[in-house]
Amino acid sequence: MADPDIEKVLLDEEQIRARVKELAAEACAAFEGRPILVVGVLKGAFIFLADLVREMHGPLKVAFLRAESYRDGTRPGELEVGCVGVPDLRGRDVLLVEDIVDTGRSLVGILDAVRELGALSVRTVVLLDKSDRREVDVAVDHVGFIVPDEFLVGYGLDHAEDYRNLPYVGVLARRVYEGS
Ligand code: 5GP
Ligand code: MG
Repeated sequence: MADPDIEKVLLDEEQIRARVKELAAEACAAFEGRPILVVGVLKGAFIFLADLVREMHGPLKVAFLRAESYRDGTRPGELEVGCVGVPDLRGRDVLLVEDIVDTGRSLVGILDAVRELGALSVRTVVLLDKSDRREVDVAVDHVGFIVPDEFLVGYGLDHAEDYRNLPYVGVLARRVYEGS
């Protein structure tokens, strides 16, 4: 049964599992057997990355960087990209894993940071795409699902750090964040 704060389950576990498997195959094919450095964007992508890499075959390593644009609200703020602990990216073929792309501003900033760290190539895989809300042009190579402009939580996505553990992606009830 869905959490009482969830208005509607948008993507259930089965749908997500099937699509993640396809995305893993697509991404692997694109790298043509070259070793991949899979870089997850914390914290939202941690569950997606964990499921994705378990469906990927071939040589890969995992790293994370941190990007925060949403504070405790539901609308974006200033982007901060934290690269502490990110390994040397020089000469590496990177697969950047992000939970959701909305205006596209975060992804642009993150891609700049990854390129500055010297990556040889960067591909992007994003589980959820609010494509109607795009404000800047950004290349997403692999998209899981196109989603509507609603505030989504679960499967790694949070609201004020809650709901990340829900196994599905759901629409958060407005009463939870309205007036906050
Ligand atoms: P953008 O910079 O593309 O507008 O925003 C991307 C970031 O905003 C995502 O990485 C995610 O952290 C956050 N975000 C955008 N839409 C949602 C949403 O519906 N739910 C949650 N939990 N975060 C979102
Ligand atoms: Mg994010």
